[in-house]
Amino acid sequence: MTVATTEPMVGVPEVEPSHKDMRRYPHGVAFMDGQYLPMSEAKVSVLDWGFLHSDATYDTVHVWEGRFFRLDLHLDRFFRGMERLRMKVPYERDEVERILSNCVALSGHKSAYVEMICTRGGSPTFSRDPRDAENRLIAFAVPFGSVANKEQLERGLHVGVSETVRIPPNSVDPTIKNYHWLDLVKGLFDAYDAGAETALIMDTNGNIAEGPGFNVFTVKNGQLKTPAFGVLPGITRQTVFDLCKEIGVAVAAADLPREELSQADEVFITSTAGGIMPVTRIDSSTVGTGKVGPVTRQLTDLYWQKHFDKGWSTPVAYL
Ligand code: PLP
Repeated sequence: MTVATTEPMVGVPEVEPSHKDMRRYPHGVAFMDGQYLPMSEAKVSVLDWGFLHSDATYDTVHVWEGRFFRLDLHLDRFFRGMERLRMKVPYERDEVERILSNCVALSGHKSAYVEMICTRGGSPTFSRDPRDAENRLIAFAVPFGSVANKEQLERGLHVGVSETVRIPPNSVDPTIKNYHWLDLVKGLFDAYDAGAETALIMDTNGNIAEGPGFNVFTVKNGQLKTPAFGVLPGITRQTVFDLCKEIGVAVAAADLPREELSQADEVFITSTAGGIMPVTRIDSSTVGTGKVGPVTRQLTDLYWQKHFDKGWSTPVAYL
C-alpha cells in the first residue's frame, strides 16, 4: 500500500496526460490513495461502495483568480457529512485543506472546480458490512465550470419545472451532500423535452425544491425567498443570506409554491459551479420583465467582489 502523504509528489507536474486522455478528461490533478495523479489516472475500483451504492459524500469548492472561496464552510459541511455517515479518513482537516491546495497548485489552474470526496470504499474480504469498509478520500482540481454559460448569464436561463419529486429527506438526508441524483437527472431530461435549459424539481409536499447542482431564489417586492425543506443548504445560498444581511435586504427560507415562482419579479439560482445565475424564463412564461433584474445584478456583483476579500477567501499556495 502506498504511504499517504499530503505533500506534492516530486515530478507530478511532469506527468502530463497523453493526447488521448486530454480529449477524454479535463486537465487537472487528483489525489487518491496517498498520491497525486493526472485526472486521467485517477480511477476508483468498481467494488468501491461509492460506485456500487452511491455510498459517498462530497463537497465542491471553487478557486477564483488564485483564491479559494469560503473554503472553511465547504470543509465544515464535508467533515460534518463524513461524521453523519460514520466515515473516517486518515487526514485531519488541515491536511485535507493542504491536499486541495496542492491539487490546484499542481494543476496550475488559477480558476478551478475543486472536489473532495469520501467514499465508503470496500473491504478486502468483500464483506457486506459497511463497518468493515476502508473509507477512501479523493480530491481533484479541474478548470472552473458553471451551470450557465456566458450567453445564459447575460440573458438569463430558461428553467423547466418537472413533476419529479426529490428523494424524501427522511430517506436520504439532503444536508449531507450526496450523489443521489437520479431524480435530478430525470428532471433535467423532462426540462430538455419541454425545450428548457435546466430543471427545478419538487419536494415531497409539492413545493419547489432545487435543481441539478443548485438552489433557487425568488425576489418579490424586494424580498427574497428560497426553499427551506428537502434541499442541500448550499454554501452559495448561505452566501446570499450573508450578502442580504450586509445590504439590508429581507430573505426567508420557507416553502416555495410553484405559483410563486412564476409570479416572482426575479428568479435566480445559486451554485459553487457558477455563483448567482439569473433565470428569465420558467416553462413557457417570462419572469418579470424578461431581463436580468436589479436585485440579481446587485447580489451577483457583490458575490464576485467578495472573492478578493480576505475574510471570505484564502489564497492557494502555488508551488
Ligand atoms: N443543491 C444540490 C443538490 C447540489 O448538488 C448543489 C451543489 O452541487 C447545490 C444545491 C448548491 O450548493 P453550493 O452552493 O454549496 O454549491
